[in-house]
Amino acid sequence: MNPKPLPLVFSAPRGRAKPPRHLADLTLEERGEAAKEIGLPAFRAKQLSTHYFERLVDDPDQMTDLPAAQRAEMAEAFLPRLMTPLRTLEADKGTTRKTLWKLFDGALVESVLMRYPDRATVCISSQAGCGMACPFCATGQGGLQRNMSTAEIVHQVVVAAREMASGEVAGGPGRLSNVVFMGMGEPLANWKSVIGAVRRLTEPAPSGLGLSARHVTVSTVGLVPRINQLAEEGIPVTLALSLHAPDDELRNDLVPINTRFSVAETVEAAWNYARTTKRRVSIEYAMMRDINDQAWRADLLADVLTSYGDWGWVHVNLIPLNEVRGSQFTRSRDEDTDEFVRRLEAKGVPTTVRDTRGNEIDAACGQLAASE
Ligand code: SAH
Repeated sequence: MNPKPLPLVFSAPRGRAKPPRHLADLTLEERGEAAKEIGLPAFRAKQLSTHYFERLVDDPDQMTDLPAAQRAEMAEAFLPRLMTPLRTLEADKGTTRKTLWKLFDGALVESVLMRYPDRATVCISSQAGCGMACPFCATGQGGLQRNMSTAEIVHQVVVAAREMASGEVAGGPGRLSNVVFMGMGEPLANWKSVIGAVRRLTEPAPSGLGLSARHVTVSTVGLVPRINQLAEEGIPVTLALSLHAPDDELRNDLVPINTRFSVAETVEAAWNYARTTKRRVSIEYAMMRDINDQAWRADLLADVLTSYGDWGWVHVNLIPLNEVRGSQFTRSRDEDTDEFVRRLEAKGVPTTVRDTRGNEIDAACGQLAASE
């Protein structure tokens, strides 16, 4: 007997429109081919690429080295509008800026630019929504809407770089130095677009933005096969693993993908990443009051990590929980966080507590999009 057809709601969406193709989706060579297809010489694609990645310009009126009659047509072919800012919020005296973006199909995503004395970091989204369903995370509550394209991911960075260069961020003109994939979405669940974006961000202009790979951080719940694949790519980006618990019993609840890849398998993949790339891995641990912040869990976390040796392959980044409205999870007491740090360091694990930016503008963790 044939199985009953799945109800429509469970079948993959068909014929859904794709984000417009943009030069950031293509390699420099593919851009040249695409130019020829519309009857332009390949070097025009290179000129456009220089405007976009080096001058951070996508307005045809500012491309005075291109024949005026062709500018609009070229911009339409290579630099279509990918997203519109719906809202921009500032905090921390203008050094934190959050943008809520509306994508071509109405999907909402967020990016946050954070300027520090010695660096400027943009936190970007890689998916509209997220399918990982971590119960403490605002984005996790709404499920996955869709994957973002490479250009949609990259464009958030180009806009942030432009904001830094133009001097509109408090502190005067500066350079965007760091990118973290810690906005909405699970980057390694959108592998093709994300690896394309990592390439565009790290290739030198006019191919890409020319950021240093070590200044690009990919944060993941721990999709083990993809971590291994990332290690083989030869682009030594920084890996952040969202662990949040050292034991399977608790992590199965906090990070549900743990039922597929256990703590041991996940930490081993992170260790293998450090070994292969020579990059120190960051373990993310959001401190939740009376959930994962007990002293014994600090000891267990240290034991799990140091079982792979203490050659400096790892450090722990404790994140004061951002309390999501209506959620049962609250932020740890300061004294419990202090004790947690002490216990990790006593066992030789370098530990930092993340500074919290932009709390008052819902800057973290999909809270702004969730409130729309
Ligand atoms: N999906 C990826 C990247 C996006 S989230 C990942 O899970 O790593 C970036 C980081 O913010 C992750 O470590 C995530 O667990 C953490 N996070 C999510 N919700 C949070 C909250 N309410 N408070 C503090 N950190 C949170």
